[in-house]
Amino acid sequence: MATPLDIRHDQSLRGLNTFGIEAKAASYLRVTGTDDLRAIHADPVLSALPRLVLGGGSNLLLTRDIDALVLHMTNLGIAVSDEDDDQVIVTAQAGEGWHAFVQWTLAHGLPGLENLSLIPGSVGASPIQNIGAYGSELADYFHSLHAFDFATGEVIELDRRACAFGYRDSVFKHALRDRAVVLDVSFALPRRWQANLRYAELAAELALRSHAQPTAKDISDAVVAIRTRKLPDPARTGNAGSFFKNPVVSSDRRDALLAQYPGLVSYLQPDGSFKLAAGWLIDQCGWKGRSLGAAGVHEQQALVLVNRGGATGADILRLATAICDDVYATYGVTLEPEPVVV
Ligand SMILES: Cc1cc2nc3c(=O)[nH]c(=O)nc-3n(C[C@H](O)[C@H](O)[C@H](O)COP(=O)(O)OP(=O)(O)OC[C@H]3O[C@@H](n4cnc5c(N)ncnc54)[C@H](O)[C@@H]3O)c2cc1C
Repeated sequence: MATPLDIRHDQSLRGLNTFGIEAKAASYLRVTGTDDLRAIHADPVLSALPRLVLGGGSNLLLTRDIDALVLHMTNLGIAVSDEDDDQVIVTAQAGEGWHAFVQWTLAHGLPGLENLSLIPGSVGASPIQNIGAYGSELADYFHSLHAFDFATGEVIELDRRACAFGYRDSVFKHALRDRAVVLDVSFALPRRWQANLRYAELAAELALRSHAQPTAKDISDAVVAIRTRKLPDPARTGNAGSFFKNPVVSSDRRDALLAQYPGLVSYLQPDGSFKLAAGWLIDQCGWKGRSLGAAGVHEQQALVLVNRGGATGADILRLATAICDDVYATYGVTLEPEPVVV
């Protein structure tokens, strides 16, 4: 006989989101595998509830109590699922911690994911916004994933194309939103690996460490060092990393802005558009280090909003809105939040 689901009520989510914001989940379940999701789907009362899937809570801003069934993904396991002369396919369950998974691959002599070291959160959430950092993104080494589809009650397999990855974007923010729960993710790691040192700051850090031909572990260590220096540790200061995406504009728009603001920081994209450094725009508007109540802008990173202690989600949102309004009034550029605001 199937074990009954251990659904809890009025569960505090304070320790389950990296902003450290208090919010209660009306219903909460630690999901340990596909059977839990099948059981919810088969139950007419539970399947009718709105759902919120939760990983490490590092890309979430909770602005209210959650009147939904929170599905906290805790299924674990990492294994090599296939290999040939060119690549090794490694599969990790959704509840695995992302950084621990990257370290597992490196410890097993499987390079590829090192530039993405120390990104907080779970493996299951990594495809949702196609996590990226230091010149690399998840899509570079993504192979496929399994997800539970609440529309059909079936487990589906999606390849890279089906995931429609973009800049901090995927099918899970569109057609499969509120529908698919990622169960596991597979990565194709190359046997013939090449260091990715496209990101100037990373190359400089490795040069400083006298690594002329760095290994994947050297790169991971350098990324960890840079991130530790630059970003607040959520265990000490509540935050969700970059709060805004870098806005993408046409080359004409970027040229017009550059003529007016010669210091503008922008990056050419493969399609000819430009990504503007949102942190630079916010910094120029004088927000770095400022606070509105208990919500603040980090002293070293204008892109990072922090909980200075006791902030509510509404406090953080108020600060974010004030910053957006200011950047729009000054540059005519719209900033979009990166975390999911609930
Ligand atoms: C200090 C710091 C630094 C960061 N740096 C980076 C960075 O460099 N690059 C970057 O891309 N991100 C960065 N982030 C953001 C964050 O780490 C990533 O977005 C991460 O993938 C979120 O994982 P999570 O498990 O915490 O997701 P959560 O915050 O729990 O959830 C995020 C979204 O994904 C959905 N979701 C979660 N798990 C699943 C699942 N199994 N199936 C379906 N949907 C799911 C949730 O419903 C929610 O919509 C940073 C965050 C912090 C706090």
